[in-house]
Amino acid sequence: MNKPILLSTPHMSDRELEFVKEAFETNWIAPVGPHVDAFEQEFCQVTGASHAVAVSSGTAALHLALRLVGVEPGDEVFCSTLTFIASANPITYLGAKPVFIDSDRTSWNMNPELLAEALDHRARKGKLPKAVVVVHLYGQSADIDPILKACNQYDIPLIEDAAEALGATYKGRFLGTFGRIGIYSFNGNKIITTSGGGMLVSNDLYLVSRASFLATQARDRAPHYQHSEIGYNYRLSNILAGIGRGQLRVLSERVAARRRNFEIYYQGLKNIPGIEFMPEANYGCATRWLTCLTINTEAFGANREQIRLALLEQQIESRPVWKPLHLQPIFAQCEFFGGAVAEDLFNYGLCLPSGSNLTDEDLEIVINQIKAVHYKTQKNQNSMFMVTEKVYLTT
Ligand SMILES: *Cc1c(COP(=O)(O)O)cnc(C)c1O
Repeated sequence: MNKPILLSTPHMSDRELEFVKEAFETNWIAPVGPHVDAFEQEFCQVTGASHAVAVSSGTAALHLALRLVGVEPGDEVFCSTLTFIASANPITYLGAKPVFIDSDRTSWNMNPELLAEALDHRARKGKLPKAVVVVHLYGQSADIDPILKACNQYDIPLIEDAAEALGATYKGRFLGTFGRIGIYSFNGNKIITTSGGGMLVSNDLYLVSRASFLATQARDRAPHYQHSEIGYNYRLSNILAGIGRGQLRVLSERVAARRRNFEIYYQGLKNIPGIEFMPEANYGCATRWLTCLTINTEAFGANREQIRLALLEQQIESRPVWKPLHLQPIFAQCEFFGGAVAEDLFNYGLCLPSGSNLTDEDLEIVINQIKAVHYKTQKNQNSMFMVTEKVYLTT
């Protein structure tokens, strides 16, 4: 039996522990301190963002972002449908309603034409959304220019959910820095991790200082505890910010390793019929946070679930592509603009183990198992079929 090969696990360098030790030695064991300040500054240097505030999760960052652009009960917020539920949950925390937009086939991200149509539709009804949340799925940039253009036409703030896309670029510039606000996640499975954490960035200093204020229980400037607004306890711990500083120093290596995973999978599987890899849009450079592919059942000989289960039998963790949010039971009543692009990607899409700490041997095991599923079905279909390529049939 192989050792388990997991989807995406934390990958520390040798610096994180030094920073954590420093926090202990100086007794900065609090959601404030020098590592938090430095992490925010260094994050701006790396991404080119003007201002940043470190918070306890990507979800918290998005909650703050939506509140900062003025989302209130009864409002609508447009959101990519093909994403993790955390992209939309904070919309509901504010009593607003998500409206979902389908993907395009080239980027798997929000279709700019559908967004423009949906905005026109709402403009005619006289009820525009308060914000648009665009997700950079699996580390690939959405097509920002036409999306920004559509938003700007109606003066609607764009919020970028770059939780999976730290280190990815659009036309040479880092994702998360195009919208009014960008958010990132440092959850355990992301490109870099603080075990849990997030970042909010903006070119607007006022917005970022408001975010910091709201994340600290909205405490007014007074010697006593005084509050004129409802806030949250969303600041990042100084210990975790220390981990973040170490991780930030190896960000480009982590992205390179994930892109290399993709390349090895691609070379190993591109000739297998029925497998198509997630394309990389020509306007950007993706993180390839997860290597994703779609399975044409007939051509491959087995469906997505059969592959996933065959991998699981070998302790290899793969996952279906995100289930679109407009198909989630909790969002069944929400409006949706689009067709079946996201739905198709969910039905046929599979995410392969993609951690930056996977070895070449791990990748080879995964590739050979997927090949084995294919060749086995070919054999079953036609007993005369000769398997000439060396494959490892272990079932
Ligand atoms: C992980 C993730 C989030 C949430 O980040 P947390 O830090 O886990 O709260 C939001 N959006 C997307 C697209 C994500 O992948």
